[in-house]
Amino acid sequence: MTQGPSDCLFCRMVAGEVPPDVVRETDRTLAFRDINPQAPTHVLVIPKEHHATLGALAAADPGLTAELAAAAHAVAVQEGLASEAGPEPGYRLVANSGPQAGQTVHHVHLHVLGGRALQWPPG
Ligand code: C5P
Repeated sequence: MTQGPSDCLFCRMVAGEVPPDVVRETDRTLAFRDINPQAPTHVLVIPKEHHATLGALAAADPGLTAELAAAAHAVAVQEGLASEAGPEPGYRLVANSGPQAGQTVHHVHLHVLGGRALQWPPG
């Protein structure tokens, strides 16, 4: 079942009810460290507004979708995974959507992963 804002963990973080480890914030986005990191750098980037999936966000607000991508890249630069000069050493963005992808929090988020050589294909 899709969570609504009232029972959404990430909405509660945005509201300050659950304090995340924030690494970057803009008017409309929030980035914080994943509580269960899968790489030396593992940051989640969310829109403050509730949308369940990346597809739902893209349909509702293309401008905010672009802001989310820019915010994720800015986090990667801030974390030393890329620079304005290029994508070295590199990072991966993941947006799990739906049960087969393993989405557990139904508030769209981009995982920014890096700091080690990442395997492909993912599991
Ligand atoms: O893509 P998915 O929905 O599975 O990702 C949710 C992420 O939220 C997980 O990586 C999980 O570790 C993270 N999380 C968190 N803090 C919480 C609960 C979940 O960082 N309190």
